[in-house]
Amino acid sequence: MNILPRLLFLFQSLPIKIPMSTFTTLNKWLSKFIWQNKRPRIRLKTLMCPKEIGGLNIPNLKNYYYAAQLRSLLTWVCQEEDSIWFGMEQGDCPGMFLDTIPFINPDAWSKEKKKVTNEWVKTTLSIWSNIRKTLNLSSSLCRLIHIHHNLEFPPSSGFKNWAGKGLIMLDQMVERGSLMSFQQLQQRYDLPAQDFYKYLQVRNYFVKHNYITLLQTPPTNLEQFVIHVIKGEINSRYISHAYKLLQENTENTQDIKRKWELEMNIIIKDDDWERTLREGHKITNSPSLKEFEWKTKIRFFRSPFVTSKFGGTSDRCWRGCVLVGDYTHVFWDCPKLTNYWKDIQGEIENWKQDARVYVYKLSLFFFLPPTVMLALL
Ligand SMILES: [Zn+2]
Repeated sequence: MNILPRLLFLFQSLPIKIPMSTFTTLNKWLSKFIWQNKRPRIRLKTLMCPKEIGGLNIPNLKNYYYAAQLRSLLTWVCQEEDSIWFGMEQGDCPGMFLDTIPFINPDAWSKEKKKVTNEWVKTTLSIWSNIRKTLNLSSSLCRLIHIHHNLEFPPSSGFKNWAGKGLIMLDQMVERGSLMSFQQLQQRYDLPAQDFYKYLQVRNYFVKHNYITLLQTPPTNLEQFVIHVIKGEINSRYISHAYKLLQENTENTQDIKRKWELEMNIIIKDDDWERTLREGHKITNSPSLKEFEWKTKIRFFRSPFVTSKFGGTSDRCWRGCVLVGDYTHVFWDCPKLTNYWKDIQGEIENWKQDARVYVYKLSLFFFLPPTVMLALL
């Protein structure tokens, strides 16, 4: 039975706050189902990661909920005036504009937010605030501030013309970390000469809030995503785009990498770790080897050291070498494997082709950076 589409339908039906405890309960049920009520061998958080970073793409329901709710906000940003829902919400917020308020200057917004009485709008803004906290974004998303409809500018039809010509947000007025000149903007957006005063007005706004400094930092993934939506470069599949973005920014397998590092007493570079997770499963077409490769890297198997913690068993190596049988030991360090690894070394040296290619492939399989692999062989 397909569960996710049913939940997604509910998530995007109405802007309703779902308590986080609900997701905790749903995750417990999911975990019980996956492991059939047995003790989980891999954390659900790891299984929820994208395959490229070591997970199995198990749906992260909280992020799907956020992504579905973010869609309402993107409807505001794109001003989908054909949408009845947008019309209802905008009609209930006289004197302010829904495309602007998610990004407005926090000081200005603190004075204005009391005017919002519509519960659906309040909920969408509250979820937006949670998403920003989840992604650890700064309180100011100034590059997304709309020029037209800005509550801090006096009403002016001129800025509406700017929006019509494609100059919508502050980000478009900055190039290589500097505010563009009026002449540059004129050329790019075909602005009339009499708009120079309006340009000065916006420039003063930049200076007042020190936005140039803030805009010199590269945009976050979320900002980039919203910019693409505003420019119309992304105009469908909002939920899957937003979900992917949330997943990339909230989930990772760094905890597993740290376990390997501690055991092996090496530093594995993030690039190496991501490369082995991304490309490791491509080195063979065999499903069972692929599965074994993934289970090894992600530490699915229980070493003697792990099982001893449950009580009643020894933490020593299975092969009788009397050393502690942690993960690294049973796969790599055990003295009884020395001859095996020496054989591998001999095979590599015998290869007539460039041995580095094989070391590279081998390193993908054993998650080690090629340099470390060479040193160990
Ligand atoms: Zn051993």
